[in-house]
Amino acid sequence: MRTSCALGEEQRRSIKNTASDALGVHAVTAAGARPRAEPEPRAVPIPIPPRSGSAGKGHSRISALPGAPRSRQYQIISREAPQRSPTMAGKKVLIVYAHQEPKSFNGSLLKITVEELTKQGCSVTVSDLYAMQFEPRATRNDIVGPLHNSEAFNYGVETWEAYKRGSLSKDVVEEQKKVQEADLLIFQFPLFWFNMPAILKGWMDRVLVQGFAYDLSKAYDGGLLQGKLSLFSFTTGGSQEMYSKGTISGDIRYILWPMQHGIMHFCGVKVLEPHICYAPACVSEEKRKEMLTAWTQRLKTLWKEEPIDCSPEWYFK
Ligand code: FAD
Ligand code: ZN
Repeated sequence: MRTSCALGEEQRRSIKNTASDALGVHAVTAAGARPRAEPEPRAVPIPIPPRSGSAGKGHSRISALPGAPRSRQYQIISREAPQRSPTMAGKKVLIVYAHQEPKSFNGSLLKITVEELTKQGCSVTVSDLYAMQFEPRATRNDIVGPLHNSEAFNYGVETWEAYKRGSLSKDVVEEQKKVQEADLLIFQFPLFWFNMPAILKGWMDRVLVQGFAYDLSKAYDGGLLQGKLSLFSFTTGGSQEMYSKGTISGDIRYILWPMQHGIMHFCGVKVLEPHICYAPACVSEEKRKEMLTAWTQRLKTLWKEEPIDCSPEWYFK
């Protein structure tokens, strides 16, 4: 397991303490710091796929689904924010939760979310993926009955066709119903290898199928799940310093880009600032309580927040 606690002294010294180089995220540190929103552009040596058909600034461009044939081009349709009421009362929230242990820090964050949002009058649904033994593998079993083309299996095509004729597997359909009904999707998980845990990635792969979440010419601001909000709430092993500008792990927003822009925004879902609890296993009990309080406080005014630009121009400079 990767934690900042596990770092050797030498490695710690190599990490510049640039906590003041703020991350544009709700970073809940031991000190409960809330950094400023927009940092300076900078270069980070991680591979970023080229933008295909880039035709403008920010989100206003034509983009293609990664790996899709050239003919499958997606055009931005609108940048309008969904109309939202100032409170969350009556709103439907789906929490997709990926931790094995209810007594974990993630488990505590989940409990707070359910309690606080319920108190506000929201209808809260939790998909507890490990407890559900959610199947993360995208396989032929996701299609009930005969295939569209049994000669050569193509998961994307088969699930798209199965969605259209109503023959996706029951567990996928159930999750799609929850997504369809939700105004807000919250993803709660521990960071695994700079990413979400495989079980949650499997949920994305299997639930957000073509026809349901996006379609030909219907992606990004034109995605089929328009009008919804999402929020990635996660914990790390590494400290905030490790994920700051110029340090060994690099700016954490690069980790967020595939999740927020590549998945949520692609499906038309707006993204609220992520919520990151850094290194809960390495801080004092008091600091952990502070982090939990900070999350509770944020939830109280969550619905007043504006979505963020999840792929700002400076990412690629
Ligand atoms: P826990 O260990 O469950 O909790 C931390 C502490 O909080 C525990 O002492 C717990 O008892 C306590 N606690 C729980 N509830 C409360 C409460 N209500 N009040 C006070 N204290 C409480 N990290 C990275 O930074 N980058 C990576 O790429 C990365 N990859 C990983 C890959 C794998 C496969 C694994 C297993 C881990 C990886 N990690 C990585 C580390 C991982 O992200 C952290 O271990 C995880 O985020 C910690 O969250 P948790 O909920 O499991 O914490
Ligand atoms: Zn985006």
